[in-house]
Amino acid sequence: MTDHAIRDVVIVGGGTAGWMTAAALSRFLGGGGTRIRLIESEQIGTVGVGEATIPTIATFNQMLGIDENDFLRHTQGTFKLGIEFVDWRQIGERYFHPFGQFGRDIEGANFHQLFLKLASRGLAADIWHYAPCAMAAAAGRFNRTVDPTFGPMPYAFHFDASLYARYLRGYAEARGVERIEGRISDVALRGEDGFVDTLTLDDGRSVTGELFIDCSGFRGLLIEEALESGYEDWRHWLPCNRAVAVPTANIGDPPPYTRATARSCGWQWRIPLQHRTGNGYVYTNEYLSDEDACAALLNSVEGEPLGEPRFLSFVTGRRNRFWNRNVVAIGLSGGFLEPLESTSIHLIQTGIAKLLALFPDTRFLEVEAGEYNRLMRAAYDGVRDFIILHYHATTRDDSPFWNHVRTMDVPETLARKIDLFRAKGRFFRYDDELFSLASWVAVLLGQGIIPKGHDPLVGAMDENSLAHRVEELRQSVRRSVAAMPSHAEFLRAHCAAA
Ligand code: FAD
Repeated sequence: MTDHAIRDVVIVGGGTAGWMTAAALSRFLGGGGTRIRLIESEQIGTVGVGEATIPTIATFNQMLGIDENDFLRHTQGTFKLGIEFVDWRQIGERYFHPFGQFGRDIEGANFHQLFLKLASRGLAADIWHYAPCAMAAAAGRFNRTVDPTFGPMPYAFHFDASLYARYLRGYAEARGVERIEGRISDVALRGEDGFVDTLTLDDGRSVTGELFIDCSGFRGLLIEEALESGYEDWRHWLPCNRAVAVPTANIGDPPPYTRATARSCGWQWRIPLQHRTGNGYVYTNEYLSDEDACAALLNSVEGEPLGEPRFLSFVTGRRNRFWNRNVVAIGLSGGFLEPLESTSIHLIQTGIAKLLALFPDTRFLEVEAGEYNRLMRAAYDGVRDFIILHYHATTRDDSPFWNHVRTMDVPETLARKIDLFRAKGRFFRYDDELFSLASWVAVLLGQGIIPKGHDPLVGAMDENSLAHRVEELRQSVRRSVAAMPSHAEFLRAHCAAA
């Protein structure tokens, strides 16, 4: 440890973000003489939603050395192979965004280009037939491995977020993290440089630190209320600002996928866990009252409600600066994108990984904070464009909400992606963005953006031999899926909650 090493880290907040951060820091800083404390207030509580994830969460758990079956048992978790989108392009239509690839590239050409060439001549099935995750989800089957053609099955989880936070709390406390229960009522800044210095709790206790991680949720207690780091508001692109959520009893076995159903003024999630199903309607109160949103939710859920509906408010957007002086904002304090592609927990993970990659010492170099901010802005902006695509590429005209999102201007980065795809099915990933070619292809085609042509480079490939090879891939997906146990059987055998 150098003379400048950080010895005192204070995490403000004990929601998913706080405990994920505490667990990761205890794993990587623990034992090195750094004290890690986490302050949370039971009185304030946590946001208490956030149940669907993407495959990167498995990497986070592995990094902590967590046994996956044990984690699923403790969080009532299920497996997730993708998201079914219902009524997005038009009422009555549906598509699937699977994890992993469609088919396989052949002779250096992207599968979707070959598919477009064959499909234009009626020589291919629907593209979802070439995606193991889509077909397994449709059949309600799951396995961690798939056949040698496709490699291991990509998957994520649905879980009870408060149980996950509790699970990680156990992990972090076992590695020395100290939990402080109390409500912070004052934040004092250092006179000379405006760094956060001391937090005062309601009962008069004070907590000092060198590095503060703000995981205090939407309000951004340190990053915004104390340091005024600024917020870029994205409501002109993503107008939803409310959600109403209610858990219901399961009817039948939990399916291995999330469902997102477009509604007249937003969309509704269905997230299956082992012991219940999470449901919620994300909407804007500009066009829909809370009462009507709640009634629409309760009228459409499949099982018996297990509690009172809860309302949440938010402003889509992100901080101008995630890292400001000696404060780093992770989680909802850093920004909010609606959970249409289940990305919030992933963005927490990204915030933690980048913090570890740029971990400061007490000199707090501006260049490191600047790089952190650049990387996190790009991470949020990339997800933002992908989410806007789902709304904008619709033909729905049945409500003022859909008329607005269908006709609005979109970010230039997204407009360019849509134009390139519409012309010849081309796609380029910007700035290390999260979603890959396969994800964009799933949603672009699913939303009805059908390229006018394909890449001229696949034009010369022999059509019959190509059709034969692509059909072999489809058969291979079919055989792999048929050999899998049902998702429910797999859960019962390996990860059933006690
Ligand atoms: P919070 O859960 O709000 O925690 C804040 C913490 O700060 C609490 O412990 C609180 O006690 C503490 N705190 C605040 N002020 C003080 C104070 N003054 N003194 C002491 N302590 C204080 N994400 C996904 O990945 N997938 C999803 O499916 C998903 N669905 C969502 C649906 C909705 C409607 C919403 C709103 C969010 C969803 N999210 C989802 C996001 C996810 O819920 C959050 O990213 C995640 O829960 C992290 O929240 P957090 O820890 O940042 O904040």
